[in-house]
Amino acid sequence: MLASATIQAWRKPLRGRLLSPEDEGYDEARRVFNGMVDSRPAAILRCAGVADVMAGVNFAREADLPVAVRGGGHSVAGSAVCDDGLVIDLSAMRSVRVDPRRRTARAEGGATWGDVDHETQAFGLATTGGIVPSTGIGGLTLGGGIGYLNRKFGLACDNLLSADVVTADGQLLTASDDENAELFWGLRGGGGNFGVVTSFEYRVHRVGPVLAGELVFPLDRAREVLRRYRDWSLAAPDELRADATLLSAPDGPVLAIIVCWCGDIEEGERVLQPLRALGSPLLDTIDTVPYATVQNLLTEVFRPGLRHYWKAGFMRTFSDEAIDTIVEAFAGDLPAPLAAIAIEHLGGAIGRVGDQETAFGHRQAQHSVLVLRMWHDPADSSANIAWGRRCFRAAAPFLDEGAYVNYLADEGEARVRAAYGANYERLAALKRRYDPTNRFRFNQNIPAASS
Ligand code: FAD
Repeated sequence: MLASATIQAWRKPLRGRLLSPEDEGYDEARRVFNGMVDSRPAAILRCAGVADVMAGVNFAREADLPVAVRGGGHSVAGSAVCDDGLVIDLSAMRSVRVDPRRRTARAEGGATWGDVDHETQAFGLATTGGIVPSTGIGGLTLGGGIGYLNRKFGLACDNLLSADVVTADGQLLTASDDENAELFWGLRGGGGNFGVVTSFEYRVHRVGPVLAGELVFPLDRAREVLRRYRDWSLAAPDELRADATLLSAPDGPVLAIIVCWCGDIEEGERVLQPLRALGSPLLDTIDTVPYATVQNLLTEVFRPGLRHYWKAGFMRTFSDEAIDTIVEAFAGDLPAPLAAIAIEHLGGAIGRVGDQETAFGHRQAQHSVLVLRMWHDPADSSANIAWGRRCFRAAAPFLDEGAYVNYLADEGEARVRAAYGANYERLAALKRRYDPTNRFRFNQNIPAASS
């Protein structure tokens, strides 16, 4: 617990608000997206700008407090908050400036994908970002960042041109290919290990309208449809991303295929034809729509405050056996809403960057598999977690040994190492340079390499 004199002294130079546990608003400010998380920080600094972020890092160093950084607060592990440390909360720093001529957009570190899409789409532009608008650009970009445009334009981090970062010594650095290039390498997949990113500058592209929506099939057709989906999605042009999700929807279990085609619309109609030829879907909402429409498709499903269990990996063998096993695991002990196994579509431009060119190293994967469970009632937690674990165990033989840093919960050191893979040692050396005392440890943490 911090002395109230310390809190008072810290408040003086700030433009934003510093909340201690006694303050109104503290309980609201410590809440994150995953309702399972119940951390009690020593203080929460809701920053108004870079000066507050620098002050916060300096306070923490003087008081020897660890720092959690809050972007959009979506990390399922709850790493935007912490017990007893200082939270540097960027949720009031959400401005976005688009330069339509240069096709760039600069967004503050607490912006969400909803913020970025809103501003960039005003100019018919977009970049790869998360598929739920409330997700923060901060955590998502720093961990890699997959989204509907990832096969055409690469990961969110592949579109990063530069980042402003406050490092553990309280200094602001700019990282890009030309300046602090090694730090820039680490920010593209190394998570929040190296400092507080106060702004991200992205390359943006002409996007929209898109051909997008969902095709929904009854669960008893899942094996047949998934076989066709696999062959079709593996051969698809880069303009297409199509995810196949086994879903326990309120009206019963289904297989939903969500597609987003960002190229020429007529060509897209031709590319989608084999999928549509499967015939008799329960629902077909695919149409020519603004990009914002597909980005909002899942907004209602992912309401904040629900409890979450996630477990994910990259598909190694997308065989008939994998399909049968995954469908059987999902349907075997059919859960109440909301449960899903999502097969996400990677490949394309992601794989045209080398595994060591950025800290994100899982570039050859063509699909990822995400087991996801959401529920309201704490009493249901153990049954739901058991369901998630069972499904992931069933899928595991078909996955590679890697992990996606942004989908990891608190899964232990081996899984953290698996997420950074062959880039781990280089990241540990970078950590020693920029955060030797591990001030920023509430993340998929890389301890500093010893000298
Ligand atoms: P936070 O919880 O705020 O932060 C996560 C981590 O990043 C923390 O360690 C934090 O300290 C660090 N961090 C955040 N911002 C900064 C910053 N500015 N500077 C330094 N460190 C920072 N992932 C995808 O790739 N694609 C998706 O489409 C996608 N959809 C999702 C949808 C939902 C509903 C949810 C819950 C998650 C989704 N994810 C997706 C996973 C997502 O990438 C991670 O949850 C990510 O951590 C979210 O970032 P955030 O800023 O909201 O999270």
